[in-house]
Amino acid sequence: MHTQKVVIIGGGFGGMFTAKKLHKLSKGALDIELISQINYFVYQPLLPEVAAGTLNPQDAVTPLRNFLKGVQVRLAEVTDIDFDAKQVVLLQGQRKILQRINYDHLVITTGQAANLSLFPGFEHHSLTMKDLSDAYRLRNRIIECMEMADVTRFPDIKQHALTFVVGGGGFSGVETMGEMAEMVDRILPEYPNIQRHEIRLVMIQLGNRVLPELPEYLSEYALNQLEKRGVEVWLNTGIHSATQHALYTNDGRSLPTHTIVTTIGNGPSEFLKSLPIELQRGRIAVSAELEVLGLADVWSIGDTALVPLNTNQDHPLYAPPTAQFAVAQAEVLAQNIMHRTRGENLATFTYKAAGMMASLGGRRGVAEIYGRRVTGIPAWLLWRAAYIAMLPGLATKIRVALDWLFDFFMPRTIVYMAERDRPATRYLDYADGEVVQHANEVPAGFYIVLSGSLTQEFERANGELEHHQLQVGDSWGSRALKEHRLTHGKITAREETQLLLVNSGDFQRLRSAYAPFNNLLSAGDK
Ligand SMILES: Cc1cc2nc3c(=O)[nH]c(=O)nc-3n(C[C@H](O)[C@H](O)[C@H](O)COP(=O)(O)OP(=O)(O)OC[C@H]3O[C@@H](n4cnc5c(N)ncnc54)[C@H](O)[C@@H]3O)c2cc1C
Repeated sequence: MHTQKVVIIGGGFGGMFTAKKLHKLSKGALDIELISQINYFVYQPLLPEVAAGTLNPQDAVTPLRNFLKGVQVRLAEVTDIDFDAKQVVLLQGQRKILQRINYDHLVITTGQAANLSLFPGFEHHSLTMKDLSDAYRLRNRIIECMEMADVTRFPDIKQHALTFVVGGGGFSGVETMGEMAEMVDRILPEYPNIQRHEIRLVMIQLGNRVLPELPEYLSEYALNQLEKRGVEVWLNTGIHSATQHALYTNDGRSLPTHTIVTTIGNGPSEFLKSLPIELQRGRIAVSAELEVLGLADVWSIGDTALVPLNTNQDHPLYAPPTAQFAVAQAEVLAQNIMHRTRGENLATFTYKAAGMMASLGGRRGVAEIYGRRVTGIPAWLLWRAAYIAMLPGLATKIRVALDWLFDFFMPRTIVYMAERDRPATRYLDYADGEVVQHANEVPAGFYIVLSGSLTQEFERANGELEHHQLQVGDSWGSRALKEHRLTHGKITAREETQLLLVNSGDFQRLRSAYAPFNNLLSAGDK
């Protein structure tokens, strides 16, 4: 008998908890595969603590394979879905080889992406707070700026380096700023040439209060706490743009800074936008049973999905994009997939959030739990207890608890882990018979033959194989990159061969910016 296959795209709160629950309910009767572009689960609410050095980066994540025993985990990027053929199209491995995976049930839970295009310059000059690498980058940036400010003789450079800005006063903005404030206070004694009053921490919020999802009283408490700790909160202020040196606001003010963290402007990812599904409010509309409207056996939950919470056409209510809701939806979704395989009625998603809470750094927090408002140290302890409880896997819980304990007694580390810039070009060496490129790969870049020779082999439309020799001075890749297509042919070294590879992103940027280079290449691309 055919074992039904469930493919889950995304290893976040939605995807990982659906896989876990489904594996438990199905008792091996379903073939479950989870595809994610990273092989670990990121506990996003803890990212500000990673950025501030409270938590070690690897402690705030859980390897998917550890947590999902019995589920096939595939590290790959899904690029397309063929809903008619019931196939997921993905690129996997370092060489980005194209694969198609069949499914009987599909779960799309790929979260949201930061949409920085809303503010000119933000794509190049701001940091986001979505992934472990973002948190790691922010921590490095803060330390780099403090190091620079401690030794520079130029007041303007010092001012730039010591101004840290967070765009957005929602949960992630407030938590990020709270942790940044704590970090600079704790590492300041290591920098004798910096006075606290020289450090500017600025949070920019469009609305008239921070944490607008919480009752006004808690927003005010959060604002007071932040201000007490030296944070300037610019309320009713819109972000306009950013440059290499400053952030500009809609009311004409500017802030000289090298560090802008943006927690606003979330939207659908390029992948989601490319699907033949009409998005509503930037999300996939699903029924109350979590099935995508108009697509049988395709489901969606978490930040990706627009999940209705009522049936009122005039005042529709939708699930907010929070971890709490994603986990609750995963529970119902796993049950519904089981119901569908057995021909039973589906369950409707209903959920009443237990409450909301935020950490403000400096051992303070705000919380509203079952209608009760809590502030200060009790709220902060509640926040920590709730997050320890929600963390997946005992090992992750223990690691995070130990990090918190050590942080209580130990100074923050100021080790600066400089990221080495990846060069735009690199040399590649091959021996006789080694394959440089397969057909149907995403082109790695533009190749130039420096020594040796190669054979290029591709299949014509009539099925015949065609061969070409590539000699010293020959090049390839420019046309495939220009047409955004996969590689056609297989290329194999015929002797000891050295190539120069120009990275695809850098090659494309140079090509689009410099017309003579583009003209030269276009002439050869015929
Ligand atoms: C800084 C911060 C603080 C937060 N604090 C809180 C909080 O205190 N409380 C709360 O409830 N919520 C909080 N949230 C929100 C919460 O983290 C999200 O609601 C939650 O992560 C949504 O889960 P998800 O599974 O929908 O998406 P995600 O957790 O974003 O997971 C998406 C997954 O899909 C993968 N993926 C994406 N595209 C592809 C593709 N094409 N192919 C393969 N894999 C793909 C990603 O790699 C990722 O693994 C916070 C968020 C942030 C950023």
